[in-house]
Amino acid sequence: MKTLLRYLNPIRHLGDKHYSFMFPLLATAGAAVLLEMYAYFIAKNPEIVGLAAIIGSIVLVIYFAFREGVRGGVVTTITVVGYYLYIIYTRHYRGSQLVSGLETTALLGGVYMLMAWIIGWLKQTIDTLIEREADQRKRLETIIQQLPVGVMITDSQGTVVQVNKKIDTMLGMKFPIGVSVHGDPLVKTQVNGKPIGRSKGPLAKVLATGKPSTQEVAIERKDGGHAYLHISASGIHNRAGKLIAAASIISDVTHQKEMEKRKDDFVNMASHELKTPITSMKLYTELLMRRITQYGDGKAVKILDNISDQMERLQKLVNDLLDVSRLQTGKLSFSKEEFRLDLLVKEIVDVLQGATPNQSLVYRKHTPIIVYADKFRIYQVITNLITNAAKYSPNGQKILVDVYKQQSKAVVSIQDFGIGIAKNQQKKIFERLYQVTDDKEKTFPGFGMGLYISKEIVTRHNGSIWVTSEKGKGSIFYFSLPIGGKR
Ligand code: ADP
Repeated sequence: MKTLLRYLNPIRHLGDKHYSFMFPLLATAGAAVLLEMYAYFIAKNPEIVGLAAIIGSIVLVIYFAFREGVRGGVVTTITVVGYYLYIIYTRHYRGSQLVSGLETTALLGGVYMLMAWIIGWLKQTIDTLIEREADQRKRLETIIQQLPVGVMITDSQGTVVQVNKKIDTMLGMKFPIGVSVHGDPLVKTQVNGKPIGRSKGPLAKVLATGKPSTQEVAIERKDGGHAYLHISASGIHNRAGKLIAAASIISDVTHQKEMEKRKDDFVNMASHELKTPITSMKLYTELLMRRITQYGDGKAVKILDNISDQMERLQKLVNDLLDVSRLQTGKLSFSKEEFRLDLLVKEIVDVLQGATPNQSLVYRKHTPIIVYADKFRIYQVITNLITNAAKYSPNGQKILVDVYKQQSKAVVSIQDFGIGIAKNQQKKIFERLYQVTDDKEKTFPGFGMGLYISKEIVTRHNGSIWVTSEKGKGSIFYFSLPIGGKR
């Protein structure tokens, strides 16, 4: 019964472009036969079929035009007209009755035909639209399934409505469709291991704000392994700008993360291994220098002096490499103490002035300020900024150093009048291994680690570091630290 009703329901056939010819023909003819049998055998009055035939015909034309399109409507109309002619013939219409019978048949036939065309055409247009939409959905579905990244789509309430196979591979389990994104099994912890609070995943953020959101998260796979995922989520808005859904693109970055870790481990190990022989070589060189000085061999002393300089550069490079790797692996620790920042700066300026007699270092402001910080690391930051100022002032221009208070911060500024830095590079120079790469700059040795290390040290002391500069005119590097002793 249910199947029969489903078969007869015309709505169920929307989108189905297989239009039947036989069904309307047989059904209409069958209806006519039934009506004839009723008239002859039950009502015993062949004349009573008129009204029933007209109402029945209208219903059948509408039904079949809506179910089977133009063709169904036209077949029904022709069958109905045939039946009307059959009535005229079998009831022996004569004279004016025959004329009016034929006129009525022609008129009704015309009206039915028009109805069949209009309704049938509407039905076929709807079918085409539905089919087009289904094709588009199929195409999109195939693309989504074939993408090399994971795709997850939720409705505006945060219920997951679609995921592709790649997500299952990433999770190591079948993703449960229909769960809420607030209980998103994808988001467990941030990459640093801290748990992500409920509703803090990128998809949940997009649903709350409508703005795109990206995040790297660590997840535990069903098989017990770990995976790192990069999730980039954005909202899908309708024409009126209302958020109707959200989509996440998810890439598995576990391999990259592991490679990065392996590389960091390697750099760490290599720098450790290099450190010991360099230190011994430096000691032996100094020993040798002392002995050779006794013999007064000026040339040999000069050579050893050069070797010693190169050793120092090598030592700095290895130390920087070690620091970068410690920063990457979160192993850089600070031992903080109270000290006078202005005095530390003065000490460094004096040492560096001694080492670069051609450059004039001017220590201008001496505001006494106490800070609570890792003295050795702050020493490293100041040295790096001053040596950079000297390095990038190729004509030996003077360098101005100031220490002063600004609100609750201690600020150190180092100004040079050297080559300067273009506006678009000023943020990037604090990134790891970033160096300005125009042809002129290539002549300066370095690895782009100093400013990155300095920035990390300063920010981990709750301070900040920044630069103002103009290409060709020079730069001022600033860094600030919170004022005050141990808290
Ligand atoms: P490097 O070892 O290359 O000097 P840094 O991290 O210390 O590495 O600096 C990064 C880049 O910033 C340098 O390559 C240089 O182009 C630019 N830079 C740093 N300090 C200055 C400065 N005082 N004047 C001009 N450019 C600078």
